[in-house]
Amino acid sequence: MTDHIETDVVIIGAGPVGLFAVFELGLLDIKCHLIDILPKVGGQCAELYPEKPIYDIPGFPMVTGQGLVDNLMAQIEPFHPTFHLNEMVESLESIGTPEAPLFRVKTSENGTTFTCKAVIIAAGGGSFQPKKPPIENIEAYEGTGVYYAVRKMEMFRNKKVLIVGGGDSALDWTVNLQPIAKRLTLLHRRDAFRAAPHTVEKMRSLVASGEMDLHLGQVTSLKGEEPVLEGAVIRKDDGSEFTVDCDVMLPFFGLTMKLGPIADWGLNLHENLIPVDTEKFETNVPGIFAIGDINTYPGKLKLILSGFHEGALAAQKVHRYVYPEKKLLFQYTTSSTSLQKKLGVA
Ligand code: FAD
Repeated sequence: MTDHIETDVVIIGAGPVGLFAVFELGLLDIKCHLIDILPKVGGQCAELYPEKPIYDIPGFPMVTGQGLVDNLMAQIEPFHPTFHLNEMVESLESIGTPEAPLFRVKTSENGTTFTCKAVIIAAGGGSFQPKKPPIENIEAYEGTGVYYAVRKMEMFRNKKVLIVGGGDSALDWTVNLQPIAKRLTLLHRRDAFRAAPHTVEKMRSLVASGEMDLHLGQVTSLKGEEPVLEGAVIRKDDGSEFTVDCDVMLPFFGLTMKLGPIADWGLNLHENLIPVDTEKFETNVPGIFAIGDINTYPGKLKLILSGFHEGALAAQKVHRYVYPEKKLLFQYTTSSTSLQKKLGVA
């Protein structure tokens, strides 16, 4: 059975801009659910540069990508947003009128559906999707023998697991899955790894004690009657080939950003970006807003601080859709006890 959730606003994308929108909506008593295809919040900041310093967030002379995300999470905590991670928004359908918008949003992974009065697209450069290895019939085994992420470790208990890659994800999952796998093999193009040194050391000690295998080379084809995977053919640098028996292959080749299903939602697009007005950051569809890196307008700067401002203005218009009868009062957090109560500080 699929879940059905009714809420005020669905935010597509839990990057820094989607996170801060929760705060601006929360101050206006607007509840929201956030959906992200990644297993964690923070978008590009958490995925692409968690340890790098950012110097142009107002009020923070320096903060790391992950540090900013952690602070945003602390800031929105009083509003208890609900996160749906590991889920990609597949479809967005208008089921209301321009005067009283209503939307149905559906995700792909669990098929959760949402009904909401407004949608905020904070999808950045699009959804992060795994880079696939160039193996001819790989799609035939996806979801049965080939997986690009580990959602539940238990799925791999007592399986012959082949992990492909040499970065942090490949090495972390090697070390984590080795104890529960029937046999674990790690395959990488060369004998050098771009992962945390202690994880690489751990992997090497497991290889030295015969508890797992390490091979150098590249997968050229997959074996087994589709969709049941039975083995992977590996070509070494010297051109020779051999087969590794496996029930499961986990390629970790990094992530790439793709616009994804957003292109099919009936929104005007300009070079894969969503045009918005600069008063409300609303798209051509009333009730659907676009903020952060995904939008475009004259003078747009793809900076986090621009996205924060856009979220604040979008929230004002969202308020009109969620509470058509209520007048919106402008208030400062510094002096408004009503806002401070919402923040749990008064
Ligand atoms: P993102 O951070 O891209 O987050 C969007 C999220 O939406 C992603 O997590 C994605 O998975 C999700 N998503 C998209 N489509 C879907 C879908 N259909 N279903 C579910 N989820 C979906 N900016 C600065 O201001 N200062 C800096 O110093 C700075 N340094 C940077 C350094 C690097 C190396 C990089 C790569 C960027 C830097 N930026 C910097 C840019 C900044 O990271 C972006 O402007 C910011 O992340 C945009 O935030 P966002 O929330 O709009 O989008």
